[in-house]
Parts: sequence; C-alpha cells; structure tokens
Amino acid sequence: MNVTEYGAVFTPASTMPLRFDADKCIGCNRCVDACQIDVLLPVPEGGKTPIVFWPGECWYCGACVMECPVKGAVTLRHPLMNQAAFIDRSLLKEEKTL
Ligand code: SF4
Ligand code: SF4
Repeated sequence: MNVTEYGAVFTPASTMPLRFDADKCIGCNRCVDACQIDVLLPVPEGGKTPIVFWPGECWYCGACVMECPVKGAVTLRHPLMNQAAFIDRSLLKEEKTL
C-alpha cells in the first residue's frame, strides 16, 4: 500500500476491527462507502480488499458488513473485552448460600 497516495499517515491501533477474506472480496468498495466515519479507504488499484486505515476509530456499528454483497468477505472482530462472557455472580452456588 502506498499511503502517500492519500496524503495521510496510517494510524496503528491495538485493535483490528475488520477481517477481510481476500478470496471472497470482489473489491466493490461498498463497505468503504457505508462507513460513516471513513475508517476504510479503497485500494488505489481497485478490485482488492479495502484498507483499514484508521482501525482505532471504528465504532463496530456493522454497517460495512451489512452492506457487503458477498457473505463472509468482511467480518467484524470485536475487541477482546467485548468478547468476554460476563458472569452473574448472584447465580453462583457459593453466593446463594451466604
Ligand atoms: S463497523 Fe462501522 S465504523 Fe467500523 S468500519 Fe464498519 S462501518 Fe465503519
Ligand atoms: S463490500 Fe464486501 S466485497 Fe465489496 S469491497 Fe467490501 S468486503 Fe469486499
């Protein structure tokens, strides 16, 4: 990727909110257009998976995934913190007997 074509600098983040499947993606860039905060940029050559240029700015709204015409071409990767299964401690046996 030649970032100078956009006159912007890639901003790394601790998360990568989207996963593209290059074998399925047809490079239509509908996901790029769907993102209201411009997390994504189209690859200048076209026909390839878009660039997640500002991964730290993603709101995980899912608009890009819903707009994609090819199932599985792009999927959301939620942060680990949001993947955790929270436990209702009041349901634990030990807590009930106290
Ligand atoms: S999930 Fe929402 S905010 Fe994140 S890249 Fe897709 S459309 Fe943009
Ligand atoms: S909308 Fe889907 S097929 Fe089109 S560029 Fe985005 S991921 Fe690829």
